[in-house]
Amino acid sequence: MNILLVEDSPVVSMLLKTQLTKLGHKVDTVENGQQGFHRATSRHYNLVISDIVMPHWDGFKFMEAMLVISPQCPIVVISSSVEEETVRQRLTRFPNVIGFLPKPVKADKLKELMERVKSYSTENVRKLARIVCTIGPSSQSPEILGQMILAGMDIARLNFSHGTYEEHHERLMAVRAAEEKWSRPVAILMDLCGPKIRTGEMRDNKITLTPGARVIIQAEPLEGTEERFSTIAPEILPDLRVGDPILLDDGLLELIVEEGGTTEVACRVVVGGALKSSKGINLPATPLSLPSITEKDKRDLAWGQDHSIDFVALSFVRSAKDILEVKKLISAGNRNLKIVAKIEKPEAVENIDEIIKVADAIMIARGDMGVELPAPRVPWVQREIIKRCWLANVPVITATQMLDSMTTNHRPTRAEVTDVSVAIREGTDAVMLSGETAIGTDPLNVVRTMASIISEEESHTEPSDNHCELMRNHQGFNPALAAAASLGNATAVMVLDFKGEIYRHLSKWNRSIPTLLVTNSLHVARHSCIYKNIDPIIIKEDLTRDQVVLRAKDEAWKKGYIGSGDVLAVIEGERLTKGGIAQIGAFQIIRVE
Ligand code: PGA
Ligand code: MN
Repeated sequence: MNILLVEDSPVVSMLLKTQLTKLGHKVDTVENGQQGFHRATSRHYNLVISDIVMPHWDGFKFMEAMLVISPQCPIVVISSSVEEETVRQRLTRFPNVIGFLPKPVKADKLKELMERVKSYSTENVRKLARIVCTIGPSSQSPEILGQMILAGMDIARLNFSHGTYEEHHERLMAVRAAEEKWSRPVAILMDLCGPKIRTGEMRDNKITLTPGARVIIQAEPLEGTEERFSTIAPEILPDLRVGDPILLDDGLLELIVEEGGTTEVACRVVVGGALKSSKGINLPATPLSLPSITEKDKRDLAWGQDHSIDFVALSFVRSAKDILEVKKLISAGNRNLKIVAKIEKPEAVENIDEIIKVADAIMIARGDMGVELPAPRVPWVQREIIKRCWLANVPVITATQMLDSMTTNHRPTRAEVTDVSVAIREGTDAVMLSGETAIGTDPLNVVRTMASIISEEESHTEPSDNHCELMRNHQGFNPALAAAASLGNATAVMVLDFKGEIYRHLSKWNRSIPTLLVTNSLHVARHSCIYKNIDPIIIKEDLTRDQVVLRAKDEAWKKGYIGSGDVLAVIEGERLTKGGIAQIGAFQIIRVE
């Protein structure tokens, strides 16, 4: 059997390990619950034996986390607690616990329990790429958010197309509570809806448009009928030219403009069907004079600046100018709000290089993109954007419909699994879940499924040509980074980067071993959540450089990233030597005792 032994007492651990090894079992030992969790996310154990009282994560916290990522893994609890009854009582909450043994552990009792162990299958959830989850009614409780964090959520998305400020505030607080509980930084992304054009209200919430029929879109709000309906953005009407296509409800219905006008526009129905109130209107061929940042966006952005938001995404970006405008709206000196450009308009695809230059991150918003562009072109655009972001070292999120069927189903379709794998193989930093986690029936299951698809794909991913090209081009930028990135036998790379200026250069190079970002800022740590393969360690105290390294090494050990005998590469950004010489990236190799 493969056994994980979670026990802080070296004597107890050694004795049990010797006994079990003699019986032919393979035993891994760790000293606290978080180390145990770290191991269990990437290895299959037939059985876990866990102590209760341990420093850092105790046995209960460990078991709670195990229930989330590997609910079927059997656990035997060992404890010398004087309050045996209280412990037994609390253990009843854990269906994964198959037995309780007081210490010293009696070999025959343990053997008896082990005979009851049944085989089960697990999927690894440890991954390098990031998962963005949209938070909504299904996922807004701190408990579920905590479980989603354990399963692999890195960024929580608040979608400002829906919801009130009160609702967003509540969700934000819940994410922060869950983040604190599991001591893992999580970024919050506010998604501004931008100039999303929608239809007005329809009579009885639904009208039916017949192909060939004539229908008028008007500025003045009214209860919509088969003959005429309104739009919430009447500013678009003068922009519409004869022959322009109008796509409704994610492109399910299509109209064509027959007669222009400033207050009403006459159209012919090309593809008909049912049309409900407040459905999206996409105008792929019409150059719009609508501003990219609406008054609502400005209000929302101001709200965001008063709250602990890490990223702001702008929808329907058209050019780099839009991003620069948002930057201007963000108060000067506010480095805590990074901007994500959502690429969903044909103009944005055309202007992608200039947008990548000014944005902090890119989102491939495939939902609207598949309506604004011919859908068959989306996969190619996705591949091309990921590649360009790779080369520019700008993080990129691949979004929308990735596990869409899991909004209601327990398992994804094979096509969805392939879609996630392909995005990972192409080198996306993050993948996004929308309705799946916001309104789906089982958001935790969706996150776990996505993490396991990523984990599996990453176990096969080879460094790509892009990777080699990036290495060659950046060699001169920081030789210590380049050396660390190509180091063969290190267990982890540690970057001392308090201001968060260099870690991102390692994210894409150093594809398989953990990159530990050491910073004193929670903001820097949260921003790193969008970069693949960065694990932040926060050290707030004012310490000397050597003390920082030692402290960070202890933290990394406590969390399970390194163990004794491992080799750790430590690098840091530019600093002055004692003699006052600027030194680019000191590079140090440490063996962990
Ligand atoms: P949305 O953006 O969910 O805000 O529309 C994503 C997309 O269009 O893909
Ligand atoms: Mn969109």
